Amino acid sequence: MTQFSQLELDEAGLRGLVAAAMDRICGQLRGLAEQPACVTEGGAELARALREPLPQGPSPVAEVLATIFERALPVSFNTAGPGYLAYIPGGGLLHAAVADLIADSINRYVGIWRAAPGLVQLESNVITWLCEILGLPPGAGGVLTSGGSLANLSATVAARARLGEQFLDGTIYSSSQAHHSVARAARLAGFPAASVRAAPVDELFRVRVAAIAAMIAEDRAAGRRPCMIVASAGTTNTGAVDDLEALAELAEAEGLWLHVDAAYGGCFALTERGRLALRGLGRADSITLDPHKGLFLPYGTGALLVKDPAALRRAHAAQAEYLPPMQEDPDFVDFCELSPELSRDFRGLRLWLPLKLVGVAAFTAALDEKLDLAQHAHEVLRGLPELEIVAAPQLSLLAFRHVPGRLRGDEPAIDRHNQRLLAAINRRNRVYLTSTVLDGRFVLRICVLSFRTHRDRIDAGLADIAAAIAELS
Ligand SMILES: *Cc1c(COP(=O)(O)O)cnc(C)c1O
Repeated sequence: MTQFSQLELDEAGLRGLVAAAMDRICGQLRGLAEQPACVTEGGAELARALREPLPQGPSPVAEVLATIFERALPVSFNTAGPGYLAYIPGGGLLHAAVADLIADSINRYVGIWRAAPGLVQLESNVITWLCEILGLPPGAGGVLTSGGSLANLSATVAARARLGEQFLDGTIYSSSQAHHSVARAARLAGFPAASVRAAPVDELFRVRVAAIAAMIAEDRAAGRRPCMIVASAGTTNTGAVDDLEALAELAEAEGLWLHVDAAYGGCFALTERGRLALRGLGRADSITLDPHKGLFLPYGTGALLVKDPAALRRAHAAQAEYLPPMQEDPDFVDFCELSPELSRDFRGLRLWLPLKLVGVAAFTAALDEKLDLAQHAHEVLRGLPELEIVAAPQLSLLAFRHVPGRLRGDEPAIDRHNQRLLAAINRRNRVYLTSTVLDGRFVLRICVLSFRTHRDRIDAGLADIAAAIAELS
């Protein structure tokens, strides 16, 4: 049995280890479509059984890989599989996994331009491409983050910087449907809890722009300092896209920073229908985008794109005597000046490699397919008796509930019924759906976003929904 006792892997050792891991990876991927969509039973027992002391010496490769693939992995949401329609799915493009292997093996430093100008340029290209996709003007820039939450935080810090020391009076406007990371970002950025205003939404779960305008006027009259509007371009609850044009008008008229949380929805700007739904997106001051959702990348890949990179730099740059000089040339960027991070992984390669190897057209086609699949699910569900569509797809997400005639008017009983329905669907383990609460009602959601989800799986899920309804009646 192969095992290692030296830190330096020689070439044969590296090839052998990668080959052994690759056997496991390929075996895992081969079975992906047959694996259950979600396994949670036995999680606590498993986690306790996997506690272990600090290893004092080497363990055999086969045994270590078996721990990962045979013991730890099976109890999980199958987030890489085609049946994962829960929360906001991602995917995990394998080209990106190879990019990570390369990036970690060459282990160059990309936080500072001078440390690897060519590799930093590859990541800068990715940033430029993302800005183009979103319709931001020339000169836009940004930074790759670990995810949308961190992007929302940096955007909030950038908006706050414009208020200087007076930010404690600052106010932020979003909707009751905004992602919870928006309020958390404000808290982490030092805004008092009461600074975040959650405006009401319309019947399509889009923020009421007039309500925000009224709140701004009220706050100004009370001596506060309106600072930022956070629009949603694809809410997590229902996929609602706010009226970005109207919000851009309002932000411009009021001199406020417009941030668009497009973590889920932004990548649909690659498609014609997406661009239509996201009209006005390019007028934002900053945009959160999660390539680990809409570009199917592995977890850990978010982005913050900004109209004016200098604003990000003013909020984040910091000096130290032990660092090399930062770039003055506007063509070049030191990523450490645009974010709270100094050392970090070379996450740009994770985007650059798949985009170069495959080309953007395949991503566009996959996203168009997700829009079609959500429409198809909507049409089928709409035809089921007693099924109430709570939110039709604006992108690739829809929400619904089942209201049996015998329960009509008894909201708590309808909620309990839908909780049982969700369990009965998921028990079939071909798809995994999750729920949310809208206006106090428990609703089920379908979010289609994995590149591995195709028509056959959606049809299987729709059949399971119908069968689960029949089972409960
Ligand atoms: C996923 C999501 C976030 C948070 O992003 P993470 O990558 O999970 O940190 C923020 N906003 C929206 C709309 C999201 O869908």
